[in-house]
Amino acid sequence: MGPRNVFVTGGAGFIGSNFVYHLLDALPDTHVKVYDKLTYAGNMENFERVKANPRFSFVHGDICDVHAVSEAMRGSDMIVHFAAETHVDRSILVGVNPFIQTNIQGTVTLLEAAQKLGVERFLHVSTVEVYGNTAPSVSVRHQFLEDDSLNPLSPYASSKAAADRLAYSYWTTFKLPVVITRCVNNYGPYQYPEKQIPLFITNALQGRPLPVHGDGLNTRNWIHVEDHCRALLAILNAPADAVVGEVFNIGNDEEHNVIDNANAILRLVGVPSYYPSSSLISFIPDRQGAVRRLAVDATKLRERLNWTPQISFEDGLASTVQWYIENEAWLKHVLERGDTFLNDALNRGVDKA
Ligand code: NAD
Repeated sequence: MGPRNVFVTGGAGFIGSNFVYHLLDALPDTHVKVYDKLTYAGNMENFERVKANPRFSFVHGDICDVHAVSEAMRGSDMIVHFAAETHVDRSILVGVNPFIQTNIQGTVTLLEAAQKLGVERFLHVSTVEVYGNTAPSVSVRHQFLEDDSLNPLSPYASSKAAADRLAYSYWTTFKLPVVITRCVNNYGPYQYPEKQIPLFITNALQGRPLPVHGDGLNTRNWIHVEDHCRALLAILNAPADAVVGEVFNIGNDEEHNVIDNANAILRLVGVPSYYPSSSLISFIPDRQGAVRRLAVDATKLRERLNWTPQISFEDGLASTVQWYIENEAWLKHVLERGDTFLNDALNRGVDKA
């Protein structure tokens, strides 16, 4: 039997809101309850299309609040846990405490509540950042496997690594039916513009330079958020013996560096050809805690659940740029909130241009 009542933490954020749409469309009998604190990254405007759907409900709350979590979780069969402080730069420049609080303490609060309730599945959304640096291409094996060691490089990644292992320990110790996913970098609609791709799109649309850290050659696997959501749904639908107690990498073979992304976005936004794109790219000092290369091997997920990514980076990036153009009001409202960290990030290349 598929999921019936799904409790989605962090559902008002980027991946969570895409997942809510995906779930409601794919499973007509399923009810979704989003539980979200609405931090700077949460946005009720992400729910425009589902807010009147009787199978959707929203609870405003903090995952660290034991009482509120157990009240809200009651009646849920499956938990999908996205809620987190998610930005590497904020974990370095703003402070680590919210990361420890939400990513570690909040995860434990949810695991405890789920354990008491006796849920059928607890899908913990971890990240490839827990692995650290993929070896450079001279190495024998180039992509992380699920049983590789975890060597997180930033406070964000370390807090996610702690949560990842705590979730696993609730399976090994208490037999809570936990599944852990480690997905590569996502892009797509509704992503807060502090992150690389929407930041580049926002600046390209507004004629501001695109800030590129270091030499711009840091590379990542990039996956469209819909492919990620499809993988998560496949895991929720899978029989317990195929997935419970397991870790799954989610990724593809699309590796791209920062400069390539900047140039591709400038082209898609339509910076006039007489205007050399390089003049809208501004090099700034490298980030602390930066990972040079991150790539995973997702063979386990492909073979066990027959999942394959369906959106090429070229097509996905084009549709994402188009989404930000068509959803000017969404972007305008986000920018009007007066988030000084975001404002600084968007303007980081201006002085250097
Ligand atoms: P996001 O920053 O866009 O959204 C995070 C959401 O969590 C927001 O809605 C926010 O309000 C909510 N939240 C934060 N603290 C909370 C708290 N204490 N209680 C309740 N809600 C809280 O994040 P995202 O990019 O959508 O990432 C979602 C998850 O996926 C995270 O766990 C992240 O580590 C993981 N992940 C992200 C990526 C990526 O590329 N974005 C890749 C792999 C894994």
